[in-house]
Amino acid sequence: MSAKIIDGKQVAAEIRAELKKEVQALKARGITPGLGVILVGDNPASKSYVTAKEKACEEIGLYSDDNRLPVSTSQQELLDLVARMNANPKIHGILVQLPLPKPLDENEVLLAINPDKDVDGFHPVNVGKMMLGQKAFLPCTPHGVLQLLVRSGVQLKGAHVVVVGRSNIVGKPLANMLIQKNESANATVTVCHTGTKDIGYFTRQADVVVAAAGHQDTITADMIREGAVVIDVGVNRINDATKKSGFRLVGDVDFEEVSKKASLITPVPGGVGPMTITMLLYNTVESAKRFG
Ligand code: NAP
Repeated sequence: MSAKIIDGKQVAAEIRAELKKEVQALKARGITPGLGVILVGDNPASKSYVTAKEKACEEIGLYSDDNRLPVSTSQQELLDLVARMNANPKIHGILVQLPLPKPLDENEVLLAINPDKDVDGFHPVNVGKMMLGQKAFLPCTPHGVLQLLVRSGVQLKGAHVVVVGRSNIVGKPLANMLIQKNESANATVTVCHTGTKDIGYFTRQADVVVAAAGHQDTITADMIREGAVVIDVGVNRINDATKKSGFRLVGDVDFEEVSKKASLITPVPGGVGPMTITMLLYNTVESAKRFG
């Protein structure tokens, strides 16, 4: 079997087109969805993520309030800015780009965000609501994975999904979303991690494997059953002298070999990546609809 590629760029473009229409409808009612963005320090990766998020906002007509603060910013200054954004009716979503430079306390800052504006879905109130199956802002990367599966026609009800990785931002929330008793989930979920004795024993039984471990070749062809769906969340830099940058990005899955056995597979780049920002836009528009 040669797997069909799940094109994350295309699915993301579809969702963004839907959102653009919703933004136009909101604007007609006098509401412009607004995202407050906070970036502290000069981390080049964080800078490029924030720039990409703001560009994506602009493309679908969202207002973004850009706040780039020096590395010397104090905890109190940061908390004061979050408080101003909480109170600002033009801002429907607040994004604090992580990681924050030391010695800033990320947890305290995330807790200070009004859960109704927590479009990253990291506040414990949203995490709790998600777990309880209540309406909540879902964290963007796992929500993006779910959307890729649903929009590719993958039947999750009754499927066995194996998630490799249990981080708070990807593996744990994804497993939680997948076990919810609703139409776009209702799967049986196994979560593997570094404490799992034989990951292949579980992945070989899976209808869907999601790799979110952060290591190249965590998932090889012998770990996948014929016809499985494989979603690769991993983003790993490897040296490549043929590239101008000297590196290229690969996922956690041995794409070449696994795609010979899988029925559907996401590439890296161009799979899960484009979905993450898209779901941030989605949450911001949802927030504007709730406030409006
Ligand atoms: P993380 O916080 O480092 O967590 C990795 C998880 O994978 C941990 O639970 C770890 O287990 C587990 N793990 C690591 N190596 C493993 C192995 N060999 N076998 C089984 N489990 C293993 O990473 P993350 O933030 O979840 O991100 C995971 C990957 O996704 C990274 O490559 C990251 O760059 C990528 N990512 C991509 C996007 C995107 O938008 N495309 C967004 C977020 C993350 P323990 O808990 O036992 O340590």
